[in-house]
Amino acid sequence: MPSGTTHDRITLWTLPWVSSITYGITHNGDLTLLLSGGFLFSGLMFGPDLDICSIQFKRWGWLRVIWKPYQKLFRHRSLFSHGPILGTCIRILYLLFFIAWIAIFAVGLAQLFFGFTWNWRDFVENQFHLLVHYRYRETATFFLGLELGAMSHSISDLISSNYKKRLKKKQSKKTKAGKIKR
Ligand SMILES: [Zn+2]
Repeated sequence: MPSGTTHDRITLWTLPWVSSITYGITHNGDLTLLLSGGFLFSGLMFGPDLDICSIQFKRWGWLRVIWKPYQKLFRHRSLFSHGPILGTCIRILYLLFFIAWIAIFAVGLAQLFFGFTWNWRDFVENQFHLLVHYRYRETATFFLGLELGAMSHSISDLISSNYKKRLKKKQSKKTKAGKIKR
């Protein structure tokens, strides 16, 4: 498979194309920015290679520790990390789980000091309603950006490993032919 820097290069070289095509289709600067941002974030630090100690993983800094259980859960290049749509969905849910966990702790602490009321159910319902009913275009566009970034990674992994397999086959044929001649 390509190295982390090759994956980075692929992401950065394809970004102008992705942005131009998105703007060409939507004629909307906000949606183009959202899709491009999702694509870049996914390509550089939210991609399938979070399942190993990769550049993407290292870019999370001290927060990288949250991806340790993810690496234990999913085998490298499995369908759950590198698979289309499923990989991105699992990473989003996984990250949301950690954000929720930290938020619950932070709100609990703030409530203890400042004594205000907070209803998690109302908050989650309101956010969900906002994202699904009022901001569904933005939500879908950002998700598409994340998915495209992940797919550019998985496809280049696939192309590279197929190329390496073919090269190996060619080389073993050559060495076999060489032995027969001798
Ligand atoms: Zn990979």
